[in-house]
Amino acid sequence: MVWARVLGSAAGGGSPQWNCGCPVCTAVRAGSGIPRTQSSVAVSTDRDRWFLINASPDVRGQIEAFPGLHPRAGRTTPIEAVLLTDAELDHTLGLLLLREARALRLYATPAVHRTLCDGSGLLRTLERYCAVEWRAVVPGADLALAGGLSCRAFEVPTTKRDRFATGEESGRVVGYRLTDERSGGTLVYLPGVQALTPAVCAELRGCHTLLIDGTCWHDDELVRLGLAGKTSREMGHLPIDGPDGSLARLPALGVRRTIFVHMNNTNPVLLADSPERRVVSDRGIEVAMDGLEVEV
Ligand SMILES: [Zn+2]
Ligand SMILES: [Zn+2]
Repeated sequence: MVWARVLGSAAGGGSPQWNCGCPVCTAVRAGSGIPRTQSSVAVSTDRDRWFLINASPDVRGQIEAFPGLHPRAGRTTPIEAVLLTDAELDHTLGLLLLREARALRLYATPAVHRTLCDGSGLLRTLERYCAVEWRAVVPGADLALAGGLSCRAFEVPTTKRDRFATGEESGRVVGYRLTDERSGGTLVYLPGVQALTPAVCAELRGCHTLLIDGTCWHDDELVRLGLAGKTSREMGHLPIDGPDGSLARLPALGVRRTIFVHMNNTNPVLLADSPERRVVSDRGIEVAMDGLEVEV
């Protein structure tokens, strides 16, 4: 059995975002939607040893909200390691908040590792506080984690500009396919995907549960609202709506359970009574909230 606990279900900024007065943030503040923290999941096969995928700026509150991640004695943690999908701040800033650890094991591709060392410098800072044990993630290679949990990263192509321009092209963004070696149950975590290319679809096909990028409803969502000049795709996220959006593409993949994660605070699917949420539900797709647990 693979257990996945959604620690945070919103994209960078969370929902509501501190400086956003868009219709969805306003509705959430008024109590017509539930608040969500920034995206991360915890996975385990034994509910004893847990692996975080991404460390969000909300990680401290996320750990406190889930007893499974509480220490059982002294200065200990059931968190075995952190796996990173990319070097985005909303997925890595939480590493600094885990600095009280004696040592932190980190799984990341060489490209992500280099960005964190020489680009954002986040790992250089963290290493002044605790030992960081980096294990290189190689897309396509199986990795044994613990308790029969195996993991395979896969490359997620993106044309999003590299903010820190470290020159790396491959391995900047990956998804993770997690398998319980005993039951064969498979879960995929893919919080950022710009395009469902044939290679990406091949990784998703046949998995039991898919937690996938639901950042924006419209490709030009932030432009329409006058909040930013970039489209969803330019930010590295396939929109839900539209002829080539994820909603049109996902049902053909034959995944048993599909759940949107990493929703931006502007996305109307965050509101349970929105027409957009109904469209998603009618296709049999779920919208994650913080604390959702899935078992595969
Ligand atoms: Zn993100
Ligand atoms: Zn907003």
